[in-house]
Amino acid sequence: MNAVDATEHYETSARDPAPSLLTVILDTNPHAWALLENSLPLSKAIANILVFLNAHLACNYANEVAVVASHNQKAAWLYPRVRQNTASDTDGDAAMNGSSAEPGQVNKYRPFRIVEEQVTQNLRELMESTSGADIQGTNSTMMAGALTLALSHINRSSIAWAEAHGADMAAAGGDVPPTGGSTGTDTMGEGLQSRILIVSVSGATDSAHQYIPIMNAIFACQRLHIPIDVCKLSGDAVFLQQASDATKGVYMSLAEPQGLLQYLMMAFLPDQRSRRHLILPTRVDVDFRAACFCHRRVVDIGFVCSICLSIFCEPPENGDCLTCGTHLEMGDYGAKPAVVARKKKKKKRVNGQSNTATPTPTPTPGP
Ligand SMILES: [Zn+2]
Ligand SMILES: [Zn+2]
Repeated sequence: MNAVDATEHYETSARDPAPSLLTVILDTNPHAWALLENSLPLSKAIANILVFLNAHLACNYANEVAVVASHNQKAAWLYPRVRQNTASDTDGDAAMNGSSAEPGQVNKYRPFRIVEEQVTQNLRELMESTSGADIQGTNSTMMAGALTLALSHINRSSIAWAEAHGADMAAAGGDVPPTGGSTGTDTMGEGLQSRILIVSVSGATDSAHQYIPIMNAIFACQRLHIPIDVCKLSGDAVFLQQASDATKGVYMSLAEPQGLLQYLMMAFLPDQRSRRHLILPTRVDVDFRAACFCHRRVVDIGFVCSICLSIFCEPPENGDCLTCGTHLEMGDYGAKPAVVARKKKKKKRVNGQSNTATPTPTPTPGP
């Protein structure tokens, strides 16, 4: 019993299990939330997500959360967000005297209260700044931008944590991914454990034009061992299935969105360390389709540039790749046949020569 010692218990050292950073990307697309109004209004979803964030914070006193909104015009931080006008006010005591603190809030655990206040306030500002024209202009969501914001925050937090705690990865010269994960079964010397949860409501067709940046973000997460969990409330986004599949995250499409909190607590709360001992509720029938680079259409079978691996739904004009400009030998594809043949037969013959079906997406060097 002597081993249970208060000084040992509260001392932070590199031997402690590394804390976990949970970044939630909330799809705030007004079009999609309007369709969900009867089953799960946005306000209820936010309340559920806040409970989930609190549960994550309660798991370990050093756990961190971040919340990014993937809105229809832009991606924006909901938490943490540094404000210019209140930058000096970093201790909660002063804020409690302000208008933001309600009488009932003073007894709340401080990290819970700060997250709740910032998320609700920033979300309100985001919604107020959205004009009718913005909503009419597009019905997609800025998922690529939100993923990029999340990744940059994770990177910064990982470096800051390693500097503060002297994790082994700092000495390794950056070869070891900042989030550790696959290398050590032991918890010693691990960096900050990071994961991303996407609460998605938009469909795939809306995000097809962001195919390339989304895939690049997915590959970055894959390399850094950051699982992307996806909680799909409506629609079905092809790329997000691939995201969770490639990064070994959890993908769940909810049949009953009103049960969001239950799903969040049961399926998405365990961190990477716990997940090693769990059988995760991931889906097996992943949709691996890609979007063409020319029209951003989701295609089953396409044409692939043999130089840069760009995907096209139809042969590019004159056989010049639209991405790298290489002139591709198209053979006699598209030429008027001397004998009128059946269309299906003609396609089949050409497929063997210069076209390749693309069952899996490929990493793309940016144009
Ligand atoms: Zn196309
Ligand atoms: Zn090319």
